Amino acid sequence: MEGALIARDKVGVQDFVLLDSHTSEAAFLNNLRKRYQENLIYTYIGSLLVSVNPYQELDLYTVTQMQLYRGVNFFELPPHLYAIADNAYRVMCNEYNNHFILISGESGAGKTEASKKILQYYAVTCPTTEQLQTVRDRLLLSNPVLEAFGNAKTLRNDNSSRFGKYMDIQFDFKGAPVGGHILSYLIEKSRVVHQNHGERNFHIFYQLLEGADKDLLCWLGLERNPQKYMYLIQGRCAKVFSINDKNDWKIVRKAFSIIDFTEKDIEQLFGIVASVLHLGNIQFEEDSNGHAIIRDGTQIKWISKLLGAHLSILQEALTHRKIEARSEEVLSPLNVDLAFYARDAVAKAIYGRTFTWLVNKINGSLANKVGFLSGILNKTVIGLLDIYGFEVLDTNSFEQFCINYCNEKLQQLLIEMTLKAEQDEYELEGIEWEPIPYFNNKIICDLVEQKHKGIISILDEECLRPGEATDLSFLEKLEEKVGDHAHFVTRKLADQKTRKSIDWVDFRLLHYAGEVTYCAVGFLEKNNDLLYRNLKEVLCNSKNSIIRDCFLLSELDNRRRPETVATQFKNSLTSLIEILMSKEPSYIRCIKPNENKEPGKFDDFLIRHQVKYLGLMEHLRVRRAGFAYRRKYELFLQRYKSLCPATWPHWHGPAVEGVQRLIKHIGYKPEEYKLGRTKIFIRFPKTLFATEDAFEYR
Ligand code: ADP
Ligand code: MG
Repeated sequence: MEGALIARDKVGVQDFVLLDSHTSEAAFLNNLRKRYQENLIYTYIGSLLVSVNPYQELDLYTVTQMQLYRGVNFFELPPHLYAIADNAYRVMCNEYNNHFILISGESGAGKTEASKKILQYYAVTCPTTEQLQTVRDRLLLSNPVLEAFGNAKTLRNDNSSRFGKYMDIQFDFKGAPVGGHILSYLIEKSRVVHQNHGERNFHIFYQLLEGADKDLLCWLGLERNPQKYMYLIQGRCAKVFSINDKNDWKIVRKAFSIIDFTEKDIEQLFGIVASVLHLGNIQFEEDSNGHAIIRDGTQIKWISKLLGAHLSILQEALTHRKIEARSEEVLSPLNVDLAFYARDAVAKAIYGRTFTWLVNKINGSLANKVGFLSGILNKTVIGLLDIYGFEVLDTNSFEQFCINYCNEKLQQLLIEMTLKAEQDEYELEGIEWEPIPYFNNKIICDLVEQKHKGIISILDEECLRPGEATDLSFLEKLEEKVGDHAHFVTRKLADQKTRKSIDWVDFRLLHYAGEVTYCAVGFLEKNNDLLYRNLKEVLCNSKNSIIRDCFLLSELDNRRRPETVATQFKNSLTSLIEILMSKEPSYIRCIKPNENKEPGKFDDFLIRHQVKYLGLMEHLRVRRAGFAYRRKYELFLQRYKSLCPATWPHWHGPAVEGVQRLIKHIGYKPEEYKLGRTKIFIRFPKTLFATEDAFEYR
């Protein structure tokens, strides 16, 4: 590994464990700032990577860079995502075990970019064959498609992920990527019908209008101008400087053809996207009885055509509700408000389910067909987790509640896996170890998810009392049941706990990452996520095969109450955590440097807050009190035996004794290492660096 040392960067320290001063926050921030100002955005804490969003293109992701990191121990080169990716990959290949890389941080911190760069790294550096080339392309191209349908411009991020994504990359025994599988989590459907000021709907709508050729638009009954569509203009920023919708459209179109979508699929898919836009333009007015009627029949005709749904039944379904009373079906007319509600509900349902269909379709094309054909091969995976980051808006609703709960769960996983793994190992190896105190956010997870007592259970209970329960009665129940919880505040309790005022429809949670005030309005409705039965019936009978796949007839027969949104989400997170727990972890902690998406600007206040809640100082303390590096005696001896005449070229005794001779010869001080049952533990990386240097300059 010539050159490795030269390539090591010299600004600040590249591993916080090497900081000379005590583990003070100021020293930590100084190091991060110094490096950030030199565009060194990556720094380690042991094997955890801290990344600060540069908000500018850096020359760090070239193929040459990728090759530099291939097969190199990660402390031998400047910190990089590629080092983390390569390390996970090499351990997977050597030990045949499964890995995951958890990328966390708040919205706009750089998680999605990191996950894409890691995927590219594997696509470029892993061995492949011509046969596997398609798999590689599909893995890469699944991204633009999912981003088009699942990402949107928000105030915090022009390309904000509005769904959670966990992707397994599957490798064969030779380390070649042979397939993949994606799990998606709770897409923010409400965005389809409503956007806050300065935000957009999902990218795909704008891409379609900007990029599609005239014929397609004509076939879909659409005009090019986004200002014509009610669902696209609420945020008042259809056009965004940093986004090239036209170009993105081309990429998405190309991606579709590579991921096995037929022309028919594509036609039907855009039929659905267009239908949503038409739905948004439907207006209702009151007839003389106060019932809703559709003002202008143009849109509904287009929808009927594009979804292959019967026009008059569709019309009826948007203005009436079918109620079953004593085995009789009664059609009851809706008032204007309810008709708008039904319209929006159907738009959200169509979009949300189509997104799930899309993920399934992509999974079909990523499925490991090679392995299937040649019998069961030994397959290992690296999972990439990129989920929506912690979010605090001016008004926080049910969606933010779910997103932030999800972030609590991941923080919890990280806390348990880092501290627990560390402590287990010391115990196993018989190394003395005193635990470091840290904030365990399990208490907040429990507040949200505990059976019968947690916020989700209370919400579900209220959802079981249709007609009686309201968002306010939900709030009252919360007060009654979790009012005295240390991390929960409502108006009644605000004065005692915090001095900040709180509205009477709000409740506040003290999350690990900070306080968030949630507006309870809409919680019940969003958690129930009801679609009137007759609307479902229309969709089940649609001639658009995607819609038919999404709305199964069997759903109509099912009399059981479907699980609420929050409970489904909770269950899917629980199984995600199980999936992750069974794998070897690597962590990337992303930090957002400023609120303005500005390159080079290091906002001390904002960053200190993130360093604090991410628990980076605690992590560092554990790392420093503990041992930065550990190696099995055999491996350590194998690598460095040439440094000592007694062990070179061969050592014939037990490995532990060889290691003892070796480190005595090169002069390790007693405080620098400990000997466990099977491994040598080295306290500071610099000890190892020095050994590594001696080794390289021999
Ligand atoms: P998150 O997924 O954490 O919400 P993103 O990964 O979407 O955040 O990053 C937000 C924006 O920041 C990106 O669109 C990009 O402009 C910029 N960005 C993030 N990471 C990098 C990077 N490594 N290099 C250059 N720009 C980046
Ligand atoms: Mg993202």
